Amino acid sequence: MNLLRKCVSCGRYSLSAVCVCNSGTTTPHPPKFSLMRKYARYRKSAR
Ligand SMILES: [Zn+2]
Repeated sequence: MNLLRKCVSCGRYSLSAVCVCNSGTTTPHPPKFSLMRKYARYRKSAR
């Protein structure tokens, strides 16, 4: 599973833990968690 990571320095997207500018990259938000929250919110508003 390859997550898209974002550089904390230049904001460039990368798949590796270290960006081409030699800065660390981070995942903006865990997709699984945000998807579950979105689902819960939708179900809540539907009722
Ligand atoms: Zn960078």
